[in-house]
Amino acid sequence: MANTKFIFVTGGVTSSLGKGILASSLAKLIQAGGYSVTIQKLDPYLNVDPGTLNPYEHGECFVTDDGAETDLDLGHYERFLNVPTSQANNVTTGRIYQSVINKERKGDFLGKTVQIVPHITDEIKRRIMLLGKKGEYDVVVTEIGGVVGDIESLPFVEAVRQLKWELGSDALCIHLTLVPYLAAAGEIKTKPTQHSVKQLLENGVQPDILVLRTEHPLTDSVRHKVALFCNVDRNAVFESPDVPSIYEIPLVFQKQGLHEVAMTKMRLPIKKEPDLEHWTAQLNRLYNLSNKVDIAVVGKYVELPDAYKSIHEAIIHAGMVNDTKVNIEWIHSEKVTDDNVAELLKDKKAVLVAPGFGHRGIEGKIIATRYARENNIPFLGICLGMQCAVIEFARNVLGLKDANSAEFSTTPNPVIDIMEQQKTITNMGHTMRLGAYPCKIDDEDTNAFRAYGKHLIHERHRHRYEFNNDYLKAMAEKGMKAVGKNPDSDLVEIVEIKEHKWFVGVQFHPEYQSRFEAPHPLFVAFIKAAISE
Ligand code: GLN
Repeated sequence: MANTKFIFVTGGVTSSLGKGILASSLAKLIQAGGYSVTIQKLDPYLNVDPGTLNPYEHGECFVTDDGAETDLDLGHYERFLNVPTSQANNVTTGRIYQSVINKERKGDFLGKTVQIVPHITDEIKRRIMLLGKKGEYDVVVTEIGGVVGDIESLPFVEAVRQLKWELGSDALCIHLTLVPYLAAAGEIKTKPTQHSVKQLLENGVQPDILVLRTEHPLTDSVRHKVALFCNVDRNAVFESPDVPSIYEIPLVFQKQGLHEVAMTKMRLPIKKEPDLEHWTAQLNRLYNLSNKVDIAVVGKYVELPDAYKSIHEAIIHAGMVNDTKVNIEWIHSEKVTDDNVAELLKDKKAVLVAPGFGHRGIEGKIIATRYARENNIPFLGICLGMQCAVIEFARNVLGLKDANSAEFSTTPNPVIDIMEQQKTITNMGHTMRLGAYPCKIDDEDTNAFRAYGKHLIHERHRHRYEFNNDYLKAMAEKGMKAVGKNPDSDLVEIVEIKEHKWFVGVQFHPEYQSRFEAPHPLFVAFIKAAISE
């Protein structure tokens, strides 16, 4: 078998240029050209994983099948490549240090002084190479988080330098930078890019390919200048323009031949032109939607769209299937009151109540849920959103006014209770119920079964609390039924109200499994309900 190829994606000048989308798009092109590809993210912070991070810090925490709590870029990788990622695909500085320090404590370094170089850099290299070792992937794309020049990224850049030296043409470095346009001068400026590449060179890394994020098309002279001053081939300078949808980016790079240059440099044979027929058809659907619908998403992090990245993308995918442009009104749960709920949700054809942790904004979510239930507006509650639906139903239909989740109060009616295994937990990191679990849907006359079209599904989880089965019977008698359950533990996974137009609460996170080429059936059904009269 041929050697695995390693592509490193670094970023310069500023963050938020779209390294994740660049990595995903190039990986997509190589995958569509007949190779198996995976993408890995290295994050330069000291948290062992982003599971303990507030979404305001780095946006949503993405969860993989194997229960890893990861950076949201892994969501892009999965949505583009349509293959699952795992813990190995996201490594932080914290995780690297933790394993090196654990080895030190065990005495594995045999009396040696443990240092950033070589011990930390060796561990980084090991984690990169690990993905190539299994023989599963022809190409591993590794995205280095942060911006070149940050103190935190230095060990990662040093690891890239060493690997490039050791692997020769099996390794490639792509550097993404910004070329700002100065309106007053009427010019695209290349100096920040030159400086950023100098910074990389100072660290011993010569980028092979440059991708310039730009708001204006690159001229030949800009391309030429950047190539000359950065020691990069002229045909290896690409542009990343602003486009209406991130899903267009693979096609933008295909047109420019980014994959061909990358593959040629790595001596990876070009077997065929990337087959993006289905991808392109999806994009055409997305760009030519006939209908429109307004829906509301109620959450407490709505000021930061990245906090609900996967939900947002899943809704876009579902709109595409339903030939509908979904206009999302992001409603701050702390602002919802009994007095303004009707005004806030007026004209909304569906309501989604988002996941979350902690008490803040909870009453607003419950009020919005009640409004959707009482006014027959299609409702999807995800994780905490499902728990809110259960609390709301217990309070307002069962008449248990003090019903609540044990997460928020020590009520005599904990309709949502802490899971048995969670009671003894003291460490917060990576101790929730995480990852994929089975769920069985027995009743075929349910929205869930109609959406999935099968009895056994697998969805990903991230929670500590659950539907309290002591209330199962009383709730069912009044119309809220547990229609999906974990077959092993009996844990309630899906609740529905049959008398309602479309009311579904799920303890799991369907959004993590929606892909551009395979939109999630539950979101598709939710949007379908929103547009149906
Ligand atoms: N806070 C709730 C729990 O831990 C819900 C979690 C979530 O929405 N992801 O069970």
